[in-house]
Amino acid sequence: MATRPDIRAARSVPLDRTRNIGIMAHVDAGKTTTTERMLYYTGVTSRIGEVDDGAAYTDWMEQEQERGISITAAATTFGWPRNKNTHVINLIDTPGHVDFTMEVERSLRVLDGAIAVFSAVEGVEPQSETVWRQADRYRIPRLAFINKCDREGADPTRVIAEMKSRLGATPVAIQLPIGLGPPEGDGFTSVIDLVTLRARTWDEASFGSKWVDGPIPHAYVDAASLAREEMIEAIAEHDDELMAAWVSGRELSIDQIKQALRRVTLANRGVPTLVGAAFKNLGIHNLLDAVIDYLPSPADFTEVRGRDPDDLEGAPTVIRSISADVDNEPLAALAFKVQSDEAGGQLTFVRVYTGTLRVGDAVLNATRGNLEQIGRLVRMFSNHREDIRLIEAGMIGAILTSGGGKLATGDTLCDPRAPIILDPIAVPSPVIGIVVEPETDADAAKLVGALERLAIEDPSFRVKTDPESGQIVISGMGELHLEIVVDRLRREFGVKARVGNPQVAYRETVTQRAEGENKFVRQLGPRGEYGHVRLVVEPTDRGGGYVYENRASASDIPTEHAPAVAAGVAEAVERGVIAGYPMTDLRVQVVGGSYHPVDSNNYAFKVASSKAFVAAANKASPTILEPVMSLEVVTPEESVGDVLGDLHARRGKVAGITARPGVQAVACFVPMASMFGYATDLRSRTKGRATYSMELDHYAEVPLQIREELTSRARA
Ligand code: GDP
Repeated sequence: MATRPDIRAARSVPLDRTRNIGIMAHVDAGKTTTTERMLYYTGVTSRIGEVDDGAAYTDWMEQEQERGISITAAATTFGWPRNKNTHVINLIDTPGHVDFTMEVERSLRVLDGAIAVFSAVEGVEPQSETVWRQADRYRIPRLAFINKCDREGADPTRVIAEMKSRLGATPVAIQLPIGLGPPEGDGFTSVIDLVTLRARTWDEASFGSKWVDGPIPHAYVDAASLAREEMIEAIAEHDDELMAAWVSGRELSIDQIKQALRRVTLANRGVPTLVGAAFKNLGIHNLLDAVIDYLPSPADFTEVRGRDPDDLEGAPTVIRSISADVDNEPLAALAFKVQSDEAGGQLTFVRVYTGTLRVGDAVLNATRGNLEQIGRLVRMFSNHREDIRLIEAGMIGAILTSGGGKLATGDTLCDPRAPIILDPIAVPSPVIGIVVEPETDADAAKLVGALERLAIEDPSFRVKTDPESGQIVISGMGELHLEIVVDRLRREFGVKARVGNPQVAYRETVTQRAEGENKFVRQLGPRGEYGHVRLVVEPTDRGGGYVYENRASASDIPTEHAPAVAAGVAEAVERGVIAGYPMTDLRVQVVGGSYHPVDSNNYAFKVASSKAFVAAANKASPTILEPVMSLEVVTPEESVGDVLGDLHARRGKVAGITARPGVQAVACFVPMASMFGYATDLRSRTKGRATYSMELDHYAEVPLQIREELTSRARA
């Protein structure tokens, strides 16, 4: 049984006994329940004696839920004993809803391994698919936990098949359930561990805190040995060492199998797959053991790469090695989440990759170029928050600053003598915007500040004030995302604001290469102003974003004015040339210009570069792009026709229809512009029986008619 280890002392836990993990799941698969159970078994096990009766147990859970500190914290730390040693697990919160893609990205960026929770009944659902693909992109080693095996219709075998067919994953079943479904059926009670060939049965009376490991029940012996052969074969297929041992015919040791499965998991060639029922307290201990046995520790990485703040182009060239001496390397840490704390302060969660972050340090925020004084550091434990003196390499904790801090999600903190910028967190483009208007003057005074705070916490949320109308437009990842922002404005910041109808976040781009030139010359009293810029714009591939290159020689445009030229172009790109939408998927190369030895100044170069850009972009056949979403609707069969007809009317292009037990899944590409209010509409069309998920897939040129409408609206 777990005793609560002391994980507060300096490097009390070696790097290889640390795990930074996240739990990812479709909404309702059981992420919260699984997390709660983990915190319960690890955080309060010292109190188990007192909570033998159900009331105390439930009390504790309710209290915990009310305070919500651990479950909603961006990272929670707990200890777990394994192989007679204490391990420390930092659990990083990963939301399941696709409207919070950014939240998923930022957590994937700092975790080393993840648990994917699936429901044994619903199987692989669209959002699990989305998160799984994101994790693929970061090459995150994973475990799968097939939850809800106690429910009617639970079928882990089907889920494993879906993991293969829908996720392209290689699940390796390392357990066999004994019984499935509710107690009135054969009843899910125990799991067989296929590595040790023992059956574990949990004790209901102690809420799963006690269990017995025993021999496999007679009726399951054959099935278990067959499943074990399959498991070994699946591992050996991806691990030469185990393959060699296996074909030699010698008995494989437990350690041999575990080591091989660990290698396969770390190489992303297999996903150890477990079964359980978090709600019934079944399977959580094995899951935590598997986290230690199979998921990577920070010591499994040899280096961390970043860029020199003075040279952000090209591949990352600044390398810090992760070795036994990693605590003494120069500091490199990434801020991955900003949260407000109850007292009005800011908690900035950081992962330290190399070196040590200490209270009293003045560290460089390399992303913003300012020094940050570290006044307080805290760590969230499963049932409380604690001040700490330092955060060592490989660990996670939070910097506590009072009032509004300057630190934002994605910033790199480092030793001022050894600057480095770690890869930033990918920020997805907003797809919709709404106008917000303060209700009263008092609200107006608070609105901008409040929106700025929210944008620091969540970089996928943007705020823009229209310079002409003075209107404030907020934009984000979907209707739900912005609804939550407006709700937080009201509840957390006490700002009342009216919102307009949602609008699509269009973009502009160019479709041809063209040159532009501008000479800005003006006489201001005795002194003149002079700036002259020549540039070329051309389209990039879709998804290329905005690329800027300065190829002008210093004899054409003196280096001191180069930043002004870049700023002038960037501002013009942001304003667009057709209907005021920011431009994307284009490359701008400044190729020449000239200067005046006395009259040239930054202002003149900035104006000239903006105008040169507008001239070039207008010649480069500019057009408007719209976000096109990838949509999956899961609907009962009788509504398929209705759903398809409606999607057609929304300019949707159906990519495929797949049958699943009792339902059909329609995959479709559809412009964001025709998807407002879809949630309500689909509900009434299918009597609430269909569900959908949607995310940005790509940008595409708008039809001519819409382009004309947008253009004439902008002119009006
Ligand atoms: P999340 O949305 O992924 O965080 O899911 P929750 O943990 O909130 O669980 C969703 C619902 O499923 C809740 O009503 C849970 O009580 C229930 N649930 C979670 N795990 C299990 C389980 O193992 N068995 C059963 N029968 N229900 C479960």
